[in-house]
Amino acid sequence: MSDCIFCKIVAKEIPATIVYEDDDVLVFMDIGPIVKGHALVISKKHYDPVTETPDQIVSKLHLTAKRIANAQMNGLEADGVNIMQNNGSASGQEVPHIHVHVIPRYSDDGHHWNWNAKKYADFNEMAKLACNMRDHL
Ligand code: 5GP
Ligand code: ZN
Repeated sequence: MSDCIFCKIVAKEIPATIVYEDDDVLVFMDIGPIVKGHALVISKKHYDPVTETPDQIVSKLHLTAKRIANAQMNGLEADGVNIMQNNGSASGQEVPHIHVHVIPRYSDDGHHWNWNAKKYADFNEMAKLACNMRDHL
């Protein structure tokens, strides 16, 4: 993908601060950290979204995210870690090349997700959505 910014980072055409790389994945520091230390785990090959990405790559991305979480807990003294992966502009995704955010969290980091939990009208509304998902597994 010649116009993909993350493919350009993989090709070392634009600079990034690299934390880890192997044949499948590259981990680098997010240029706009939610909390300082925020890292991105990306596939070296261009895939997007997660539903179009091979299982072994999805697995490798998340196993690598786990290693990075461990490195943030032990190397950056994080109290916790958020691991997240956006798909589609509706989800807030800005770069359409599969990546996993690994964000170190501190009790006093001041960041809040504004997790605005909703309520179902009734049990049936929730059960219907579960049923629709079940039909497509
Ligand atoms: P998304 O919203 O697509 O899930 O996340 C994309 C992330 O990529 C954002 O957190 C953004 O700060 C980061 N990002 C975008 N462009 C660059 C770049 O050129 N270099 C680095 N290191 N991070 C980038
Ligand atoms: Zn790409």
